[in-house]
Amino acid sequence: MAGIDELPPLRDVIQRHGLDARKALGQNFLFDLNLTQKIARTAGPLEGVTVFEVGPGPGGLTRAILSLGAKKVIAVERDARCLPVLEEISDHYPGCLEVIEGDALKTDFASLVPAGEPVRIIANLPYNVGTQLLLNWLLPPVWPPYWLSMTLMFQKEVGQRIVAEEGDNHYGRLGVLTGWRTVSEMAFDVPPQAFSPPPKVNSTVVHLLPKTNPLPCDAARLEKVTEAAFGQRRKMLRQSLKPLGGETLLAKVGIDATRRAETLSVEEFVAIANAL
Ligand code: SAM
Repeated sequence: MAGIDELPPLRDVIQRHGLDARKALGQNFLFDLNLTQKIARTAGPLEGVTVFEVGPGPGGLTRAILSLGAKKVIAVERDARCLPVLEEISDHYPGCLEVIEGDALKTDFASLVPAGEPVRIIANLPYNVGTQLLLNWLLPPVWPPYWLSMTLMFQKEVGQRIVAEEGDNHYGRLGVLTGWRTVSEMAFDVPPQAFSPPPKVNSTVVHLLPKTNPLPCDAARLEKVTEAAFGQRRKMLRQSLKPLGGETLLAKVGIDATRRAETLSVEEFVAIANAL
């Protein structure tokens, strides 16, 4: 394993601290620092940038981010057992790592943004809360957001849903909400054996950039429409959107009521949401 800093290899660190991975916390650790550097590089230039990380765990990705010159990493970790390990990294990069012990779902990330400074979000997310965290960062009332980019590891199947466009098998609510406000791509896949312990599924790194001028729309309305439309994705829209106005609503925006949700573009979903 190539070294990216003078810190000891991650496997040794974990053993020394008795940090066995816990399934309930979605702990699948990355030990290969070349891979964690590849993830961090995907985010774009890190010099002078503050990075928000969720779930640093034993700090493999954190170390990669810091080794690439990030000004600071602000990391939220739920598992207190990781804190002494992260402290060793903090000692190695004085003043560059702030660890907040807590639940990322309850963290007000916007309040942590250093005034006027660029922020990138980079994380190997715990899979049980990954989608909700993405939606929290994606759907704030104010746009453009404080973050310059998000580079996030998901289960491959979730990654496919995030980047999906109309007509794609994986296209659904997540693809519409992501496509509305961002340009997203799957950067590269990561096989199960790259993690310890290996998860049962393949993973993928998704990179998202905020659109400067997404079509004006109320996020809550768009969520409502996509939820109804894809809740019954095999049905025609006149049926699935019935509770929201069905044929009358669709006629207002000139969309054929016999179409199905997966054929509608993001722009068409936005038009329906705005007509609600
Ligand atoms: N970043 C490390 C790596 O790449 O090796 C660990 C990634 S592991 C997939 C997910 C991490 O998220 C674990 O360290 C876990 O304790 C932490 N975690 C789980 N749920 C969390 C939550 N709600 N808020 C913050 N951290 C959480």
